[in-house]
Formats: sequence, structure tokens, C-alpha cells
Amino acid sequence: MRKYLFLALTILVFASVVSAHRLVRLYDVSRGSVIDMIEKGYDVTCVDMRHGYVDIMLPEQDVDQAALLSYDYEVLPREWGELLPENMDDAGEYYDPEENWTFWSSLSADYPELANPPVTIGQSYQSRDIYMIRLTGPTSGYKPPIYFSSLIHAREPGGNSVLIDFAMWLTGNYDGGDTRAAYILDNSTVYFVPIANPDGYVYNMPNGGNQRKNMNFTLGDGIDLNRNWGYKWDYDDLGSSPYPNDQTYRGTSAFSEPETRVQRDFIIDLEPIAAMNYHTYGGYLLYPWGYEDILSPDSILFTGWADAMTAENNYTYGTAWQILYNVNGENNDWSYCGDSLPKIYAMTPEVDDKGFWGSQNDTTEIVRICNECRPMNILFCFASLGYVGISGDGEVGIEPLLLLNSVYPNPVLSSASFRITSSGSSNVSVMIYDTSGRIIDSFETGSIKGGTSSLVWGVPHEIPAGVYTARISDAAGNCDSRRFTVMR
Ligand SMILES: [Zn+2]
Repeated sequence: MRKYLFLALTILVFASVVSAHRLVRLYDVSRGSVIDMIEKGYDVTCVDMRHGYVDIMLPEQDVDQAALLSYDYEVLPREWGELLPENMDDAGEYYDPEENWTFWSSLSADYPELANPPVTIGQSYQSRDIYMIRLTGPTSGYKPPIYFSSLIHAREPGGNSVLIDFAMWLTGNYDGGDTRAAYILDNSTVYFVPIANPDGYVYNMPNGGNQRKNMNFTLGDGIDLNRNWGYKWDYDDLGSSPYPNDQTYRGTSAFSEPETRVQRDFIIDLEPIAAMNYHTYGGYLLYPWGYEDILSPDSILFTGWADAMTAENNYTYGTAWQILYNVNGENNDWSYCGDSLPKIYAMTPEVDDKGFWGSQNDTTEIVRICNECRPMNILFCFASLGYVGISGDGEVGIEPLLLLNSVYPNPVLSSASFRITSSGSSNVSVMIYDTSGRIIDSFETGSIKGGTSSLVWGVPHEIPAGVYTARISDAAGNCDSRRFTVMR
């Protein structure tokens, strides 16, 4: 007994020494200096060129190094970088591993018609289960899969909270609460892999560990699972390190780690059309390519999606090299262009959390990050479903006499412009329906000339956020319709 106690104390002391790190914010750092720091192996945790600062994680005893770097700096609150002692047995207000399991299991119990119980898709390095949850409505037919993951970096629990919030929102609103949830679950299958790096996450729990990588310590202190994917792995050493003790150590070969192989095999099998792989922190939305300073063939599509998705939360969007720094061997690039896959439209949000653990005792902050990411998730699903052709376009004849060409903006905030084409002059009536087919608003135009014109519609205040259909018709019986989303 005494021996075990001694052992436990030793481990405790050892672990607390290991985890004594602080986040330090350096101001007015040039982009070149950031690259330099990364190349020197600093744990650069956030680069915000907009506001002109860079955060690095330093061992507590080395915090004075920040001064040596000759920048203005600020040591960030301890709770931003680690779980505080009062949270010894869990992740504070974040969901710890057990609370995750309880949540995802209870979801299938509460909504058996929408959610499956968690299903194991493989094991981690230390033989922990990596599991997934599948949400979809009872409607049949092909429903394209959309993939969500979090905690591939084990010290980034904010992304996991966002996934839990989104799953709660989808299930809780499917039945009458918000038609956008019904639209997503009736037209797609949403998959969640909430803990992609379970060993690291479990390790981080008891003593406020700061593990980002997995727990394969064969050569160093783990492998960065988000530098271990097979597309352009080892392309260069920018943002991906060959040194085992660096935070971005990419491993000995692509897919050397069980955690990345498990996700890879599951994704290949699933063939999702789109993926959101959640990280923290900084308030960014990233998309391919990451490995090189080039734009992807779908750059315009990604930019368009990201622009709409960040309209409310104002996250900075772009490729990793535009916003942060190049990375290779990461999940987005592989998902977008994995060798044996159809293209997956993969994006990485970096949630605007307070460092890694900064909201551990602040539910308001966790609610804030979930609220600001939820519209982003909703729009992401809508955008990807539009991409596969479920856009809700109305019937279009071979020689249409009346066309509703577009609804702009879509999603609609306070007013929308319906762009229509008619073949001759006539009055046009516009009806707005909700998804149950109820008319919620209507108006008539005066006589409009043949050709293209725009009709402006102000969204009545009492209309809730949701999916709606605009239907235009003229006196001759020509009609057309188009679906759009109202955001609040
Ligand atoms: Zn990350």
C-alpha cells in the first residue's frame, strides 16, 4: 500500500513538473520571425497577424525567454494553458472523456429515431476506443455523409464542446423547433468523431497535462496526428517537424499512427462529401491547401462558403499559409485530395476559445463559442448539400417563361433580393412558404417588363430562423421556386 502511495505521489510530482507550462503572448512579431520560431521548435499555439501577436507555450521556468526574444510580451492566465488543480478529476466545464461517452450514449437513448449509439471505429495507440456517432432523420434514400471531428489535438477541448452543442441542436430541433435542423437531417447523415486522440485527452485530465500529440513515446513525446496524414506528408519542414520532441513532429511515415489510420479507413469507407475538423484556438476557418502557397482548384467555392459561414462570428478565413503558416500532412489536404477518395470539402475551424483550457470554469464562455460556431456548422451543411445538388431549385421547363434565378444573400438576414427573369411584361406574385407548406408571407409586384429584375423582400420580424421556399407566379400560370435559409 505504502509502496503504491509512493509511486502515485512520484507520478503526480513528475506529471505536474511536466505540465508546468505557460502561454506567453508576444506582440509585433513579423511573419518571418514566426517561421523562425517554428523552425527552432517553439510550440507556437496561435498566430494572429490581424492583431499582431503570437502565442507560444513555454515551460514555466523558461518564461523569461520571452524577454530574451526582445518582444513586448504578456504571460497569459494559467488556466488558458492547463487544467487548474481544482479540476483535478475532470476537464472542468468542458466534457471530459467519461462525460463525452455519457452524452453521446444518452443522445441515442433520447432520440433513438435520429441518433445511433456510439460505434467503435478502431483503437488508439494505448488501445482506447475511437468512436463515432451517426445522426440522420428517418427519411430514406441517399443522404450524403458530412463528417465532424474534434480533439485530434488532445489539448483543444473547445472544439469538442462545439460538436456536442451542434449534435444537441440538430436532435433537439429536428421535430418542429427549427426547420434548418430537419432539413439537414432529412437530406444528409451527420457523423461525429468527438475524441480523435483519446490517449492524449485522457492523459491531460488528472494533472492538467498539456499533451497535443498522441501517446506514442517510442522516439520522443508523441506524434502530431494532424501532421501524419498521407497527402504531401514530409513535403518540407515548415509547420511539420522531423524532430520527435517538437509539437509538430510528423512521425516516421505517413499514417504511422493508429489514430490517423483509424480515421483514414473510416473516411475512405464513408466517403463523406464534406468535413469540419475542429481545433482551437484563434478564431479562424481554414481550408486547403495547407502544404504550399498555392490556391486549390476549388478556391472560389471555399472562399464563398467561408465568407457566408463567418458572416456572424467574424472568424478570419483562408488557407493555412494565408493566415498562419504552411503545414503538410494534415487532415484537410488529405481529405480534399486523398488518393483513393472522391474529393471531400474539408475545413478546419480554430475556435476562438481562451487558449486551450481558458473556459474550464466559465460556462458562459463555452456557450459563447458554441453559439458562434453553430451558424457556421449549419451553413456548412447547407453549403455542402447545395454542392451535391440538393439546393431546392424549383421546376424549370425547357423554355421557361418565368424564372426565379437567385435569392441573395442566402442565407438571408434582414432582407432578400429575388432575381427573376420573365419573358414578357406581367404582374408577378411572390409567396413565401415554410417547410410545412404554410404561407408565411406574400406580395405582388406591379407590372414588370420582360427581362431580368430584382424584387426586394424584407423579412418580417416574427419569422423565425429556418428553411423557406419562395415561389413566384404570373397571371398566365408560369411559376418557379427556390429554397433559401433565414438566419437570426
Ligand atoms: Zn489543433
